[in-house]
Amino acid sequence: MQVDNLHLKIISDSRGKSTLEAEMESEGISVISSVPSGKSTGKGEALSIDPEKALAKIDWIKSQLKGHEFATLDQFDNLLITLDGTPDKSRLGANLILVLSIAFTKLLAKKGNMEIYELIAKLSDSVPVAPRCFFNVINGGLHSKNSLPFQEYIFVPENNSPKKNLEEVMVVIKNLEDIITKKYGNLRQGDEGGYEVPENDPKIGLEILSEASSAIGGSRLAMDVAASTFYQDGKYDVGGKIMSSDELLSYYQLLTQNYKLLSIEDPFAEDNWEGFTKITKELGEKIWIIGDDLTTTNVKSIKRAYEKNAINGVIIKPNQIGSVSETLQAVNLAKNYGWKIIVSHRSGETMDTFIADLAVGVSADGLKSGCPLQKERLVKYQRLEEIESRIKNNE
Ligand code: PEP
Ligand code: MG
Repeated sequence: MQVDNLHLKIISDSRGKSTLEAEMESEGISVISSVPSGKSTGKGEALSIDPEKALAKIDWIKSQLKGHEFATLDQFDNLLITLDGTPDKSRLGANLILVLSIAFTKLLAKKGNMEIYELIAKLSDSVPVAPRCFFNVINGGLHSKNSLPFQEYIFVPENNSPKKNLEEVMVVIKNLEDIITKKYGNLRQGDEGGYEVPENDPKIGLEILSEASSAIGGSRLAMDVAASTFYQDGKYDVGGKIMSSDELLSYYQLLTQNYKLLSIEDPFAEDNWEGFTKITKELGEKIWIIGDDLTTTNVKSIKRAYEKNAINGVIIKPNQIGSVSETLQAVNLAKNYGWKIIVSHRSGETMDTFIADLAVGVSADGLKSGCPLQKERLVKYQRLEEIESRIKNNE
């Protein structure tokens, strides 16, 4: 396939920040893609560049793509990776490479008369399955102001259908509104559309979410602690309470006993490998211990985490690594290790629903896409619904 036309423009993400949108065309067929950005980023993430600088590079990229026949996605991504030539994609930018890589993936699917998830399933040798929905309904940490120190409190319905999951989370959200308004007088939303809770003690978030979701049978709770964001000099500042790594581990043990937790993401700072190894040894049989800042969708870090027995599940975010083919390599490696896979959005999102197709295509265990009160999050869950009905109709 050749790229006949390519247009890049700047759009606003859910935080009102500039990001990139690409339109790519081949033989009269065109597609659109856009990319998100994170706030609580891992040190190992590929680097994005200022969208204005990306615009200035696009004519040169077009000239390099001109006349090239790409037989596969790998060939397309490899050309961009070679043109970039840096280990962290800082020359062309992970945002610029990824927006083109996603567009190319969409074009390949469309030209092959396939849904995006079907192409991804083919590329990753998977059978498409709807993931569990990880709805982040209470926002803390860097994604909020004066709120809980842990970043995300997540409602996870039982894995039945995305449509039913959306109905259930709306009940939970309504209950949360009642509980929070009654207790604190007002409602404020964080970056991912979930509500803020003006407290320092992390377990209050779990307490409130437990109450709001108690009537939903089979449902579980999850947390993204994003512990790197409150780690300094070997200690954790948990809402003003200073804890050692071992003390924080004991705290997680207590939370796991008292609440119906399914998973904890980034329970320790990304440099604290010992903390990760200990928690996976202590709690890994009971719950999913998920790496995000620790692993950054990077096969080298994922391998290191495996060698250290640090986790049993991993967050997959395409923009942490900066291309679709490398994202699929990361998923495949993690699957070979028998780990849980959670495909995730970023805290600054766009209306692109690519990650929903990615989650289904690689048969991920979860899709984490924030709170459906925000349209950039809702469209991803709605895409899951749409895919579910397509899969059913094809059965
Ligand atoms: C996360 O940490 O999982 C997350 C979605 O936040 P951000 O995009 O800010 O890294
Ligand atoms: Mg995270």
